[in-house]
Amino acid sequence: MADCVFCKIINGEIPCVKVYEDKEVLAFLDISPVNKGHTLVIPKKHYEVITEVPQKTFTKLMAELHTIATAVVIATNAEGFNIINNNKKVASQEVPHVHFHIIPRFSDDTFGHKWPTVKYSENEIEEYRKKIEKELKK
Ligand code: AMP
Repeated sequence: MADCVFCKIINGEIPCVKVYEDKEVLAFLDISPVNKGHTLVIPKKHYEVITEVPQKTFTKLMAELHTIATAVVIATNAEGFNIINNNKKVASQEVPHVHFHIIPRFSDDTFGHKWPTVKYSENEIEEYRKKIEKELKK
């Protein structure tokens, strides 16, 4: 996609610090890392959100994510890690090209990855379960 910064990286129009590349997947260091070694894993073909990615491509992407996350954790001596994937602006997606963040974590880092919670009213959790199950059966 012409205006997409990650497509420009894939096409070589702008540089990146590459850690892995194959026919379908690219991984490079995030330019504004939460912690050093913060890596982005992307499909080479442009999709905005993960629900657009065909299952076969997604399976391949997940396999590489697993391999690259393992390498990042070992290479950075991380005590833990977050895999984060944002979909759409409302969910904090800045770059509208599917990407997975691999964020190495350390007990003394400053990443405050906490979220607020809501409560279900009576029977509501069952309503949500039914609605999701219905979609899955389509
Ligand atoms: P998100 O908010 O999930 O869309 O995250 C987009 C990420 O892409 C951010 O963490 C940015 O720092 C990162 N980013 C944006 N442009 C570049 C670039 N040219 N090279 C590397 N990382 C980038």
